[in-house]
Amino acid sequence: MAFVDVNACTACGLCAPLCPALCIESLAAGVVTGRDPQPGQIRFHECVGCHVCVEVCTHLAGVEAIRAYDANLAEQVLSTEIGDRPEPAGVAPEAWDELWAEGGGFHHMGEGSRIASLLGPADRALLDNERLGSS
Ligand code: SF4
Ligand code: SF4
Repeated sequence: MAFVDVNACTACGLCAPLCPALCIESLAAGVVTGRDPQPGQIRFHECVGCHVCVEVCTHLAGVEAIRAYDANLAEQVLSTEIGDRPEPAGVAPEAWDELWAEGGGFHHMGEGSRIASLLGPADRALLDNERLGSS
């Protein structure tokens, strides 16, 4: 799952709209003193670990403020339990959902994902590299 380093985040806002789980938001005003706009945070219980935000922050924002961590490690450090099932009601579909998934309320970049089929060779190489790096 992904976490934002608030000290490194420049609050550019590029990552939030590209998160398929829509779980990236700005911290509330005043949380980090002297920062306006506030840096981002990830509602990690909702994160599906797709790495899109890691790629966006690294390659589009050029910042590397988001890193992905092993979920078991995060549970241990944060003393919390993170489920591995989607919410029973699913996620309300958005107009752009068809780019991410072949129907249904679940977002993915695997088989059947239209956005995955639209990736060019350079994008695929980046994704493959990220997957290799995370294994
Ligand atoms: S892309 Fe990176 S720098 Fe920009 S808001 Fe997201 S975490 Fe912050
Ligand atoms: S890893 Fe994917 S689901 Fe998790 S915060 Fe980043 S873009 Fe959203």
